[in-house]
Amino acid sequence: MSHKIIIAIDGYSSCGKSTLAKALAAQLEYVFIDTGAMYRAVALYFLRNNISFNDEQAIATALNHITLQFSYNATTLKSDMILNNENVEAEIREMAVSAKVSEVAAIGAVRDFAVAQQQAMGHKKGIVMDGRDIGTVVFPDAALKIFVTADPAIRVQRRFLELQLTNPAITKQEIAANLQHRDLLDTTRERSPLRQAADAKVLDNSNMNRDEQFELALQWAVEKIREANNN
Ligand code: C5P
Repeated sequence: MSHKIIIAIDGYSSCGKSTLAKALAAQLEYVFIDTGAMYRAVALYFLRNNISFNDEQAIATALNHITLQFSYNATTLKSDMILNNENVEAEIREMAVSAKVSEVAAIGAVRDFAVAQQQAMGHKKGIVMDGRDIGTVVFPDAALKIFVTADPAIRVQRRFLELQLTNPAITKQEIAANLQHRDLLDTTRERSPLRQAADAKVLDNSNMNRDEQFELALQWAVEKIREANNN
């Protein structure tokens, strides 16, 4: 039987991490986990319930009332985020959540809450998980770590094309400001800042299309799975 591995994909906002992670998981018949969706769902809960990001007690109580689940959507071929039995997949992608998620993700108690669940999901291996701290904190022993980067202007353009479908009023300036804001908070926070793991393979996809990036990452994954089988 082929050994299953853990594949950790980290990088800046809107670099195409989830697209890559989803394609790899489908090809390898692994489970894909979008950890950003978990932080987005927590942020949505905090916003809806007016939880102050400085109020430790209120945060602890709120986290006790949050249940996160992924539910497979056969139309998008992706898992939808379910917050307390409600499908919030569309709402967590809206700008109101994007504007606040990095502040919420910097809170220690929120990270403890999310990371414990992520580590439990990796128990049986056979997962592709994308986020900011997967190769450094969640699975520091992951067999394959990929750090994805892309030119900022290209990231803005890709995100613009994606968000425009659901929000025709969105502007590139708004998106650029949000990406910069999140990257800054994500790289400078005290807890688990976004960092390239020392043993990560860097994938700069600025000048690659989806297929090219997928082929390269798949090649790396196949090599690592072969190594795991030989050990
Ligand atoms: O991946 P996505 O852009 O949806 O993530 C939303 C936000 O969640 C990020 O900007 C970051 O603040 C936070 N995040 C995190 N750690 C992860 C995944 C996401 O802090 N592993």
